[in-house]
Amino acid sequence: MAELKSDSITAPHTAPLTIRAARQAITNGETSAVALADSYYATIAAEDPKIHAWLALSRERAAAQAHRIDDLARSGELASQGETLPLAGVPIGIKDVLVMQGAPATAGSKILEGYRPPYDATAVARLAAAGAVLLGKLNCDEFAMGSSNENSAYGPVHNPRALDRVPGGSSGGSAAAVAANMAVATLGTDTGGSIRQPASFCGVVGLLPTYGRVSRYGLIAFASSLDRVGPFTHTVEDAAILLGVLAGPDPMDATSAQQPVPDYAAALEAPVKGLRIGVPDEYFAEGLDAEIRAAVEKTADALRAAGCTLHKVSLPHTLYAVATYYVLATAEASSNLARFDGVRYGLRADEATSLSSMYRKTRDQGFGKEVKRRILLGTYVLSAGYYDAYYRKAQQVRALLTRDFLDAFSHVDAILTPTTPSRAFRLGEKTDDPLAMYLADIYTVTANLAGICGISVPCGNSAEGLPIGAQILGKHFDEATILRLAHAVEQSQR
Ligand code: GLN
Repeated sequence: MAELKSDSITAPHTAPLTIRAARQAITNGETSAVALADSYYATIAAEDPKIHAWLALSRERAAAQAHRIDDLARSGELASQGETLPLAGVPIGIKDVLVMQGAPATAGSKILEGYRPPYDATAVARLAAAGAVLLGKLNCDEFAMGSSNENSAYGPVHNPRALDRVPGGSSGGSAAAVAANMAVATLGTDTGGSIRQPASFCGVVGLLPTYGRVSRYGLIAFASSLDRVGPFTHTVEDAAILLGVLAGPDPMDATSAQQPVPDYAAALEAPVKGLRIGVPDEYFAEGLDAEIRAAVEKTADALRAAGCTLHKVSLPHTLYAVATYYVLATAEASSNLARFDGVRYGLRADEATSLSSMYRKTRDQGFGKEVKRRILLGTYVLSAGYYDAYYRKAQQVRALLTRDFLDAFSHVDAILTPTTPSRAFRLGEKTDDPLAMYLADIYTVTANLAGICGISVPCGNSAEGLPIGAQILGKHFDEATILRLAHAVEQSQR
């Protein structure tokens, strides 16, 4: 790793391109989709050697799509297709746990080296059908297991705002690419915080949709009852636009929900006046960084000034959330990762003498340390004799955690918390202490366990210039309300 100094904190980019601006510039002929994609690839060439957000670029696919959009723009058809092509020519990057035709898919793991998926994940296909230009695949923790991107088999990502610090994880590449203007927006996934936490560390917007809101088809599974797909963007409006494209039922994912998809971008117009905001004591307890506390309290004041009312709420089982999450997530992972056997995908160890030694050697060489730790943990909590004590108990606590939220939401419309207890830490700072890394997920894992939606929106900077995120949690399928509130927070920052 190149030597980096701690004074490398840089100012946030001032005027990043939004979806609306990119699309308009292409429709009006001020730029072309090809020129725009080229300029993003040029930024990647210039910036990524120090950030390492990208694992693969899909130049051919991007060029084909950009030319198609430019043909539509030249013929005047694009102007009339605002509804069907809301992302026409918009350069977007994809976390490498989602499959995409025309690009490798590694999930940040050696075990998938050489695997080229023959199809698009539904989320990827929907972006492409909406006209997006897909730039390539983004670095992440191996199989999305981690909070710092240091568990990628392909090397860590550096936080664009402070190169000696982590971007967060597991979707570190997705957050960093947006923060460094290497994409207008990106897709990430969030099983226990992997969209919201890196968004807060990198100073961008990260949205966790309700479980079932966005199809998981084509997502390389970590923990299927917790995994979600969602966007990273510069603005809340962009998150609303992307959710509109991504959301909706999918016959390929039986857990995708039938609920109608509202016009999320239009919902931003509604005032937040009169909304009731819950503030849970449990999320402002010991261990919370003082500057983060102050920034989130200021956010609460801003929402009050915009006409919201603030209410104390209690989420009494919060204390058990991290333990519950790490039992259930590892149990599901141990089952999901059984498919990587050297036969069906990617890597195969070649010096094996029998089928079972081929399985063993492939999995030994292909999986990294954290993934092995989780497979072992997950297998343990599911094994006869321990199942009742750990897995079943964790399922019961999950039900209690969900009930905490349902009780709170019976008298508030949304809940405001910090996204993380601390700011972006230094590369290497927590790698020797997996438990400390797990404990830092305290504010994010609860939403995954309860199935509710959440968003992290930038709400200030620390004295040393590191971004701070406020988290707004919402009722099942009520993304419109948290987007509205996050929009109000964003306005208050200007
Ligand atoms: N940091 C959490 C973990 O390591 C969450 C990861 C995620 O959301 N994919 O499991």
